[in-house]
Amino acid sequence: MATPQIVEVFAPAKINLTLQVTGQRADGYHLLDSLVTFADVGDVLRIEIGDAFEMITQGPEAETVPDGPENLVLRAAALLEGAPKAVFTLTKNLPVASGIGGGSADAAAAFRGLSAATPGYDPKADDVLERLLVLGADIPMCLASTTARIEGIGEIISPVGHLPTLHAVLINPRVAVPTPAVFKAMKQRTNPPMPDIPPVFSGVSDCIEWLRAQRNDMQEAATALEPAIAAVQSALEGHRACQLARMSGSGATCFGLFETAQAAQLAARELSRTYPQWWIRAAQLGSQSDRAAPCFS
Ligand code: ATP
Repeated sequence: MATPQIVEVFAPAKINLTLQVTGQRADGYHLLDSLVTFADVGDVLRIEIGDAFEMITQGPEAETVPDGPENLVLRAAALLEGAPKAVFTLTKNLPVASGIGGGSADAAAAFRGLSAATPGYDPKADDVLERLLVLGADIPMCLASTTARIEGIGEIISPVGHLPTLHAVLINPRVAVPTPAVFKAMKQRTNPPMPDIPPVFSGVSDCIEWLRAQRNDMQEAATALEPAIAAVQSALEGHRACQLARMSGSGATCFGLFETAQAAQLAARELSRTYPQWWIRAAQLGSQSDRAAPCFS
């Protein structure tokens, strides 16, 4: 019997630095315009090539994630015709239904890992990417795991290579917010697009200043549904070193931006002491495409 092949893939959290909802298609999908980046915190998916599909979940957030065929890892794997069967061990570190794309990141990790383990398999050669989009609008951007402007329903990805590395604190108040409920609660679903991203940023402060003038069109509706988001937002805004606080995706996770990594780490420690019931992490935001590449062992 051949030695089992093991692949490990990092599934980084996605952060919407800005999020404009610019309309809705006839089929109900919302049109988005968003500047998306990725955090150095995320889930880890271990894939052991074998004879059958199996799903094992572990880690701090495992209890809230399905471990059967409804897990997005298995749903993504089922779409990969010709890929080998495997045992997936998902270490779930990201809170579920929290606006940071955890499920999409895991699905993208499964896709990257299985593709890498399948010699000769070219995912671009078929319509699998289109089918993955049906599982989640965030999946194509999670496949890239790099800072990008996202348009359409999530399928138009324009990499933005010149954003400086940003230093953040991510906070989730431990309430799950279902994305469809937030879209439904929005009063205005046709909003102006994001202005052009400046071609150059002189540094972190300059970038934060531009971001401050942008918005997340889903934040008001999400906060009306879940008041804990307002508490997170004001905890971040109230921190002396926080330069900008905003919700990611459809919430409830919010990010605060800081001028340095040290300032973000200190703020994360201080806020964790004040709000021990919340999920709080210091994170670096930027392209994670190198870290998200499959590692064989
Ligand atoms: P987005 O930012 O893309 O809207 P989200 O972060 O709000 O996503 P997810 O954590 O991706 O939400 O979870 C969305 C739903 O998907 C949850 O209801 C959850 O039960 C289901 N789900 C299935 N598989 C997973 C997975 N591997 N991780 C997280 N959620 C999963």
